[in-house]
Amino acid sequence: MYSFPIDYVEPVFRPPSEAKSLILPVTNGCSWNKCTFCEMYTQPQKKFRARKPEDVRQDIANAAKSLGGIKRVFLADGDAMVLPTRRLLEILSELKAAFPELQRVSSYCLPRNLARKTVEELTLLREAGLKILYVGMESGDDEVLERINKGETWESTRSALVKIREAGLTSSVMVLNGLGGSTLSRQHAVNTATLCNETQPDYLSTLVVSFPQGEQRFREGFGPDFEPLSQQGLFEEIRTFLEHLQLERTVFRSDHASNYLVLKGNLGRDKQKLLDQVSLAITNPGAVPLRTEWQRGL
Ligand code: SF4
Repeated sequence: MYSFPIDYVEPVFRPPSEAKSLILPVTNGCSWNKCTFCEMYTQPQKKFRARKPEDVRQDIANAAKSLGGIKRVFLADGDAMVLPTRRLLEILSELKAAFPELQRVSSYCLPRNLARKTVEELTLLREAGLKILYVGMESGDDEVLERINKGETWESTRSALVKIREAGLTSSVMVLNGLGGSTLSRQHAVNTATLCNETQPDYLSTLVVSFPQGEQRFREGFGPDFEPLSQQGLFEEIRTFLEHLQLERTVFRSDHASNYLVLKGNLGRDKQKLLDQVSLAITNPGAVPLRTEWQRGL
């Protein structure tokens, strides 16, 4: 019987754009694991730990033996960048030796992972093969960030994204539409836009906040004034966000399954076009293709 060469602890997550990558766990779970909207690593088997170097080495050797032509590798789980630079360089060197056709390595990255890493260290990692870091910004509003227990601020996220840019790495940023409910919607949209403007990410995507396992944990952390946004409210928040964005060359997407309205474009070039699409969805929802609840598949 064929067995996959990597011994995964399920569930395993990756960004949609890493569908063709070999997913290599170098840690298990997320070292923070306290964001109240996040259910990715809450099961007991996903308790955070760094994997043993010999286990990672064995997975790489097994993958090299049984899978040909690996060009992309995604380092899992939630925040591989928590590992010391020395350890990451070792992993990147093992990957390069095992997969001669390797073109890029990527990982999720918490802003806090980079607090003690210098631009020089990140540059060394880029030279060793790391190319893309996926950063869950979620919000640029400090009040929202505190209420969701993100453990980050506008400034800590800015600092991490600036380091990524200065090191020549590609940044892909995720923002959560609806995260502040109706109470904090406007400040969430405006301050997230200012953080994006300040950091000019290469890729920016929006997802709609959702709670497949129920809202209770989120509501307890947020406070009694959480009022989920209606579909119209979500669109209005995206419109405010887009209006305040001043990006120069960012690829923008809202095509994750959680979104009702799919938007794609380059910012700033397509800003007005995207704003027109959102405005139409607000004033005349029947005139634009919107995903139904079952199509959102949550
Ligand atoms: S840092 Fe990311 S993976 Fe960790 S709990 Fe927060 S959202 Fe989830």
